[in-house]
Amino acid sequence: MTDKLLPDAAGLARAVELLRGGLLVAFATETVYGLGGDATDGRAVAAIFAAKGRPQFNPLICHYPDAASAFAHVAATPAALALAGAFWPGPLTLVLRRRTGCPVALLAAAGLETLAVRVPAHPDALALLRAVARPVAAPSANRSGAVSPTTAAHVLAGLAGRIDAVLDSGPCPVGVESTVLDLTGPRPVLLRPGGVTREAIAAVIGAVDSGAPPAAAPRSPGLLASHYAPALPVRLAARAAGADEALLAFGPPPGGARAVFQLSESGDLAEAAANLFAGLRALDESGRRLGLRGIAVMPVPDSGLGLAINDRLQRAAAPRD
Ligand code: AMP
Ligand code: MG
Repeated sequence: MTDKLLPDAAGLARAVELLRGGLLVAFATETVYGLGGDATDGRAVAAIFAAKGRPQFNPLICHYPDAASAFAHVAATPAALALAGAFWPGPLTLVLRRRTGCPVALLAAAGLETLAVRVPAHPDALALLRAVARPVAAPSANRSGAVSPTTAAHVLAGLAGRIDAVLDSGPCPVGVESTVLDLTGPRPVLLRPGGVTREAIAAVIGAVDSGAPPAAAPRSPGLLASHYAPALPVRLAARAAGADEALLAFGPPPGGARAVFQLSESGDLAEAAANLFAGLRALDESGRRLGLRGIAVMPVPDSGLGLAINDRLQRAAAPRD
């Protein structure tokens, strides 16, 4: 059942309670409705991917009530400070490096070292974010492949029964997504055009590069330098770990491995998704420390969130030449 809440004191309080409890609430921003979940809770982030039904993990934008709380989790650069001053609150998303100790779940950024952050301009979104007092991960509140929703009715048309509530603030004023700007490289790169124009950004920080065309993408996107892939080779569909392998387990593990990370003892796909990136990192690290030569991964069923988990594991296991 999906509750429809009004953005009055009672509705906001209920939305806060749901989000702080790890549940999902769609809410209006000035661009489109976002499908919000507590970004620090890997299970809540996994539930966002499950509700959208997307067969891949893509990095999500984390929403904050003000620049100070955003820059507590990502490292500000001079360009980021200038742009935040000019356009926040507003439809501009900045991709920056996570600070050490950043509490945002690795799954929210699909394992990347970077994080996309934004302060939305909608008064109800700001009231919600202030009260939740945690970063809220929110992709557009539609099923994968559908158009972005700009009313609560659109949200319910796609997600009724799949999310816990929608906060109905009426139609979104902007209606197009936020501009996404990557500030982690030597030059700013426009990853997605949106509500703030390239010219407006250039007027504040100077020239902005366009994102690389998809054709220029490497054969295996999971091996992009910026996208975490373990240094140790990954072997999929393993029944047991070899003597020189660490084991990424799903369900009761066979004995014998010297390093084991459990994705989900009970075989729960949402729990496994929430643990996936932390598990790959942990085994890569402990495996190398122990002198092991690879990571064996137990089979994960190819249904529901398992599709996105297997997509990521296949990228991690793809040939490296
Ligand atoms: P949506 O969640 O539908 O608003 O889309 C979010 C957009 O931001 C997508 O185009 C993502 O690829 C992009 N994005 C989010 N986080 C990152 C990141 N850490 N690095 C690069 N792009 C990102
Ligand atoms: Mg979208």
